Amino acid sequence: MLTVSQAINLILSETHAGLNESVSVGAALNRVLSSPVLTPHDSPLFDKSLMDGFAVNSASLLTAQVSDGTISGERTLGDSVSLNVCETLTAGTHSEKWLSEGQAVRVMTGTAIPPGADCVVPFEQVTVFPIEREVDQIDREVVSIPRRAISKGNCVLRRGQSARSGDVLLTAGVRLYAQHLAALAEFGIPEIQARRLPRCAVLATGDELVEYTQNPGPGRIRNSNEPMLLGQLRQNYAEPLGLGIARDDHDVLRSGIQQGLKCDFLILTGGVSVGIRDLVPAELNAAGVRKVFHGVHMKPGKPLWFGVYEKGDHRCCVFGLPGNPVSALACFELFVRPALRKFSGICNPDPLPMKAILMEPYQVRGDRPVYHPVKIEAGDQGLTVRPLRWIGSADLRATVDANGMALFEPCGSPIATGTCVSVWLWAGLNE
Ligand code: AMP
Ligand code: MG
Repeated sequence: MLTVSQAINLILSETHAGLNESVSVGAALNRVLSSPVLTPHDSPLFDKSLMDGFAVNSASLLTAQVSDGTISGERTLGDSVSLNVCETLTAGTHSEKWLSEGQAVRVMTGTAIPPGADCVVPFEQVTVFPIEREVDQIDREVVSIPRRAISKGNCVLRRGQSARSGDVLLTAGVRLYAQHLAALAEFGIPEIQARRLPRCAVLATGDELVEYTQNPGPGRIRNSNEPMLLGQLRQNYAEPLGLGIARDDHDVLRSGIQQGLKCDFLILTGGVSVGIRDLVPAELNAAGVRKVFHGVHMKPGKPLWFGVYEKGDHRCCVFGLPGNPVSALACFELFVRPALRKFSGICNPDPLPMKAILMEPYQVRGDRPVYHPVKIEAGDQGLTVRPLRWIGSADLRATVDANGMALFEPCGSPIATGTCVSVWLWAGLNE
């Protein structure tokens, strides 16, 4: 029987990336770029002030003669220079006037600094003296700036310092989060090329199933796998399509499968084990789905079935997940998720699992690696993990308190507290 990593490798080698489409920035959240995005211009586009303060020319102030106590006609006061405030500029305005010696311009954060200025000294570091208005003269202000606060480039973001025109802003294979949308907007890029979202059908099989809105009669149960899998698909940015329940009957199964094969992925649950009504593998075979493997050495999830359907250009990857709810959940996270990521064009579809410190000893029973529902927490020591009370693959209740699963390999003796183990998150941390 295949190991988990062998099975994942087979799945990834059979899954192709989806086609490209244009997506507007407004709709691009969580989409994966299929081609890189280059910056069409410098950022910032002008030398801008990073603070509310006074823009000055550092070179003239630092090299000016001070022996006679004046710089260009302005008085020097000890370690400070006094300059005429010649203009006030706010963000969004700009001035063409060249800064003359002995002058300072009051600028606000984000303002294009005037030509000739190369340094901004924040308001907090200066003293402003109003000069009384004399007859027929306009109001004048003088600003006293400590010499040590003046240095070339201080509080100025130069044109192109953040990004140069033609730089790679975003590489292909990146999933777009909020900050990426801001970067696209900053550069005026209205749309991007992204992989198509995977369309995924879910078909629950089993004579015992009723819709979850109904009362199960004697011996019957509600279909809990469908809402779970549709939710997992949405969490992974796929387009889900619920196909409802198929009875364990050749004709009913066949028509459900035919419908599902029109999607990029078909996910069935139930009917893949060795029971006398487990008809799914035979029906998939009859529908022309090529089996890639059946069975993985793990617990839960051993009966997992995977195959591929191809017709012309169309391709559908088919997962037959075991019917037991915890098996279906774990198999989705381990096997379906990397396939969805590959289809979406993510560079690294199956990243290494996170590591967490085991907070109590764990004894593996049996010879298969166990994927056990756990509570993973982030704290002072990093990630910690506590196995939850769990009776087995039918025990969905245990997963309600879990936010992930941990892998425990069989090794004869108990796995000690403090051991670093691999974990997969199904839900948020510390939520
Ligand atoms: P199967 O894989 O068909 O042998 O089913 C294994 C177990 O999972 C049985 O106890 C089924 O009743 C249960 N089961 C199968 N499908 C579902 C489903 N959609 N929702 C909840 N439980 C299920
Ligand atoms: Mg069944």
